[in-house]
Order: sequence, then C-alpha cells, then structure tokens
Amino acid sequence: MIRYYRDLTRKEMEAVDRERTVVMIPVGAIEQHGSQAPLGTDMMIAEAMPEYIRKEMELEDPDYPMLIFPVIPVGLSVEHLNFCGSVSFKPDTYYHLIYDIAESIAHHGFRKIAFLVCHGGNRPVLDVLSRQLRHDFGIYPFVLASGAFLHPEVQATISPENSWDFHGGEMETSMVMAIHPETVKLNLSETGYKRGGYAGQKAINFSSAAALNWMGEDLQTEDGRPIGIGGDPRGATAEKGEIIFRRSAKELIPALLSIRDWKMEPQQKR
Ligand SMILES: [Zn+2]
Repeated sequence: MIRYYRDLTRKEMEAVDRERTVVMIPVGAIEQHGSQAPLGTDMMIAEAMPEYIRKEMELEDPDYPMLIFPVIPVGLSVEHLNFCGSVSFKPDTYYHLIYDIAESIAHHGFRKIAFLVCHGGNRPVLDVLSRQLRHDFGIYPFVLASGAFLHPEVQATISPENSWDFHGGEMETSMVMAIHPETVKLNLSETGYKRGGYAGQKAINFSSAAALNWMGEDLQTEDGRPIGIGGDPRGATAEKGEIIFRRSAKELIPALLSIRDWKMEPQQKR
C-alpha cells in the first residue's frame, strides 16, 4: 500500500513493516522556468509524481510497501540565481539537510530510501550522499530519475518545429498545465537556445548531472538575450503533460519493483 508519511499517526507508524517499506523522498526546486511557467514547476512536478506512481503501481503490486515523504521544495539551483525568484541551497547545506532527514528515518528502522529526482541539478549531491548514508547507517538509498523525457512517447509530444526542448520548455510547461494550469502564462512564452561556450565539445557532457556546470544564462533567445530556458513552450498542452506524467511514472515501476525485492544483507562491520 502506498501512503503519505505525513498522514500516519505514531501508532500507525509503529505498525509499519519498516524493514521492507520504501520511504520515497521527492526532491524538487524553486527556480525560474521562463516567462511562462511558475518558479515552483519542479516542486509541483515532485508533488504530483507520487500520485501517478501510485496509479501505475496499483496495476503491478497493489500492496507495494511505500511511504511518500513530503516534497523537499528547494534544491540546488545556483545556475538560475541570476533570474528573479530562484532560490538555492548551497551543496553542503543541501547535503546536511537531506542527511539529517535520512538519519532520522534510518533511526526508526527504515532501510530503503528512494530519492525521486524532479530537478536534475540535485542529483550529484544525492549520489554522493547515498553512498555515505549506506556506509554510515547500513541502509539502502536509491536515486530515482525516470529519464522519460527521452522516451519516444514523450518525444512525440514535442512540436515538430521545437528542435531542442530542455529546461522550462514544452515538456515541463505541459506537465504544469496538466496539474496547475492557472499558473502557466503560455502567451508570454519565448524560445531558448543553447549558447554555451562548450556547445559542440564532445568531451563535456552537457546533460550529465555530473557535469552540470552550465548557467541559466547559457540559454538565450535568438538575439542573444539570456532567457534560461531551452526550447519553445508555445505548443504545450495539458494533454501532453498527462502523457509525460504517466510515462514518467511507468518508467519508474521496474526500478521500484527491484527495490522492493532488494535483499538486505546482514549489517557487517570490518
Ligand atoms: Zn524544471
């Protein structure tokens, strides 16, 4: 059964099989997403994803043992700070914040924690942190990212003239339209292009989280104005967003089933 962590009473929590139950922590961000989509885009996506996951999991394993932790709304968004409204933790603050949450959860006997990454910039710290948590507490932290933006079904939602859709583009705007349409100002959309000095340099992997050293200013309008989004959001629709949410959730199901079946090793100290 998938439930929300915040809804349980102390007594109900005591009754949870904490050895088997996965605690999923969705991690979002508050950062600019162009002139058309809200600052809370990633946070809103992080809030909505668990419900889509619950619906997909219902078909596979209605008894899936998972508690959804409240969304961590702010993340690592330094690359967007020069745009009004973006808020960021510093990497060390973020590390310690999540570490303390995980330590408390581990303290109660949970051993499986799954971070649901809804803002790619958070991932490098979560990867490092997960290894440390595993060592320090003998727990199993997993870092989940659906990767659905590259799925053919999702790529097919992108308007043909929109050649490079990325942060704050048509896909993300569609997702917000599916859940909070009133916050999207589609008529104010502008198109952003990748204009980094490293563009075309194969040895620098632009999209890899490990090399996410770009700044929002690298995404510019045709006439070179920093815009901080990639792609053309004008073709965004709620229907497309619904497809992207469902596909994102579906892509996570095999990983979640593996986490469920993950065998606990007895804790060893050498
Ligand atoms: Zn985003």
